[in-house]
Amino acid sequence: MCGFISIYGPSNSDAIHDALSGLLAIQHRGQDAAGAVTFKDRFQAKKGLGLVREVFQDKHLHRLRGHLVVAHVRYPTVGLGEDTDVQPFWLDYPVGTAMAHNGNVTNFHELKRTYFGQRNIHLGSNCDLEVVLYVFADALMRRLADPITVDDVKAAVKEVFDRVKGAYSVVGITSEGMYAFRDPYGIKPCIFGKKVTPEGTWYAVASESVVLDVAGYTIVRDLNAGEMLWIGKDRVPHILQVGNKPHRPCIFEYVYFARPDTFLDGTSVYEARMELGRRLGRAFLATKLQADVVIPVPESARTAGQTMADEIGLPCREGFVKNRYVGRTFIMPNDKARQATIRAKLNPIRAEFEGKRVIILDDSIVRGNTSRQMVKIARQMGAAKVYLASYSPPLMFPCLYGIDMSTKREFVARGRTHEEIAKELGADFVLYQTIEQMEDAVRTAGNKKLEFCKACFMGTYPTGDITEQMISDIEQDRLAASNN
Ligand code: AMP
Repeated sequence: MCGFISIYGPSNSDAIHDALSGLLAIQHRGQDAAGAVTFKDRFQAKKGLGLVREVFQDKHLHRLRGHLVVAHVRYPTVGLGEDTDVQPFWLDYPVGTAMAHNGNVTNFHELKRTYFGQRNIHLGSNCDLEVVLYVFADALMRRLADPITVDDVKAAVKEVFDRVKGAYSVVGITSEGMYAFRDPYGIKPCIFGKKVTPEGTWYAVASESVVLDVAGYTIVRDLNAGEMLWIGKDRVPHILQVGNKPHRPCIFEYVYFARPDTFLDGTSVYEARMELGRRLGRAFLATKLQADVVIPVPESARTAGQTMADEIGLPCREGFVKNRYVGRTFIMPNDKARQATIRAKLNPIRAEFEGKRVIILDDSIVRGNTSRQMVKIARQMGAAKVYLASYSPPLMFPCLYGIDMSTKREFVARGRTHEEIAKELGADFVLYQTIEQMEDAVRTAGNKKLEFCKACFMGTYPTGDITEQMISDIEQDRLAASNN
């Protein structure tokens, strides 16, 4: 999972400032690396490993001039997290363009072997964006005349959709304008906004609506699955449908990934999480178990913790205090690093556990590292009973579309009954949301007609073209990364 922003400001403006405040707003989408490429007479870039504030310092800004910018925060899902893989990528020739993406190209290795291998082209990185960039630039180069037209961009996007499989939303700039395209199934988010100032109109495309909020843009709309946007020299936005696949946005964005203050496809993530909490509260009541308190694991479970507690008629308390200066453990490159930092990150308040029957609520249970530790701490603090609750269903299948849970052996729920999971995690009981309740909760919060990608819960992949070879390629990548 990554985050991107692209901005087309009025002539003579410097778009980097909005891009950086936007990047900070989506830092949660990737803490591994950050980068930005601007255009003024030529492409200027600043990229590096680390947080946005570590990569960009004031001294870099005078160089990053120009009214066109594309920027990115990375969470590595393909590649080993090296600095050669840091986005955005750009080409000066045959077509000048800089690009960033969020998602995962499922036929990346196949394209390397075929499309590129047969022409004896060796890619310079392990980042799957590179194949999108080359296919796109190659198609754009074949256009008939300057300047680039919306039809040229459409043809290039079509070529990408035809060749490149998977889930990838893309933003980019050329010397003349800004483009974006949402992946063919709309699995990854992509939202378009604008702001009108005395200097002129600014346009922005981003992974989450919070980016637009913090930089003062208003939402125009989400791009639909397979739609593209082009704003050329005339500064007129053109939105065109290129693909024709069904829209299947990732439901895990609502569960965990997106910020609660974001709207995705017209649905408030905050409202969705409140509803997820209410429904799990009802499910807990149905178990007839007795509890004294709901303790959400901060930060993501907080919203649902309150509504779950309200529904059951219990207090919702801060039993764990999070040290916000310890990075997101899950995004750490390997399991050893993750386990060591969970304890440093979440410290208990004894009074909330001692002698109590506690419900520890998390958004999800993946490998079980967090839950296992939370249960252990609860017992050390003297809890009388420890019930684990997850407001999403058991995660059991690799996400092949860019979320780092790519190897089957990682899932604690795989091949285990709920009783066995509880035992494995040391809890007295484990309660999961059902898939039906999860979907219904998100729909209740917004768009009633949405159908989602639920591949990580069900193992059915909406792109439908997943081969064993692709799964194995992606698994090998992840294993290599964790052994790194
Ligand atoms: P685990 O400890 O492996 O069971 O992972 C679950 C914890 O990590 C929960 O606290 C989630 O908030 C968080 N989480 C779940 N999925 C992801 C993901 N794909 N990337 C980062 N964090 C995640």
